Amino acid sequence: MSLKGKNALVTGGSRGIGRTICVRLAQMGAHVLINYVSNPDAAEETRKIIIAAGGSADITPFNVADADMAQDTVKALIKKAGSIDILVNNAGITRDGLMARMKEADWDMVLDTNLKGSFISSKAAARSMMKKRWGRIVNISSVIGFSGNAGQVNYASAKAGMQGLTKSMAREFASRNITVNAVAPGYIVTDMTRDLPEEIQEKIRAEIPLASLGQPEDVAGAVAFLVSDDASYVTGNTIHVNGGMYM
Ligand code: NDP
Repeated sequence: MSLKGKNALVTGGSRGIGRTICVRLAQMGAHVLINYVSNPDAAEETRKIIIAAGGSADITPFNVADADMAQDTVKALIKKAGSIDILVNNAGITRDGLMARMKEADWDMVLDTNLKGSFISSKAAARSMMKKRWGRIVNISSVIGFSGNAGQVNYASAKAGMQGLTKSMAREFASRNITVNAVAPGYIVTDMTRDLPEEIQEKIRAEIPLASLGQPEDVAGAVAFLVSDDASYVTGNTIHVNGGMYM
């Protein structure tokens, strides 16, 4: 399906899974708005990859955890681009630690970025989608939101919260022809997981029926399906992309 004429905002599009989603949506014809918070060179690299392949993209820095900044930037993007038709809430961080030692600031930062950030961006972008009576929102959740994980109470809670957010938004926006779905990746090779010690990676592989870590392209493929016309009757759902590690 062609996404020609559609504007797609991908939060955290500068690196990892977000970058690959940006590239995939641009290949499908969308004009991609690449968001980042701290790494302009990586965002520029994403833009260059898209332009070199004949696609169209702009860069839009904002901190998804800063409600005023995120809201104002999304509003300005809608004014400039005319609409935001597709939003992928991908920006995410981890601040791991066992609960007994976890600082409140690490709880707040992970919840503010991963969960509240998705709420704020969605609220701002949905106005434009409602006007056009067409929209696609995809939330990048995680297997950890379903299984839980020692050392990740903050991250697991944020990602589990994204499930409630996804289903509730799906119900609220369905009458306006806006679908809202989630993709829950397992372990994917990116900056977030690259530095895990080899013995931990070995342990993770042993838990995965397909016996390898996933690639960002595996997640981007699921996003591409959810934003396409093939998924126009799919809403409030989650696609698990985890090699079978959680069924
Ligand atoms: P990376 O750490 O590789 O990239 C994170 C991206 O998020 C970067 O583009 C970063 O921007 C951006 N970002 C971080 N904080 C903010 C913020 N406050 N505002 C705006 N952008 C921000 O992560 P991954 O690609 O691995 O993960 C992407 C998503 O997938 C996350 O939501 C993650 O939780 C989820 N996920 C990842 C898995 C994995 O195994 N990798 C597994 C399951 C889920 P900048 O470059 O400026 O720092």
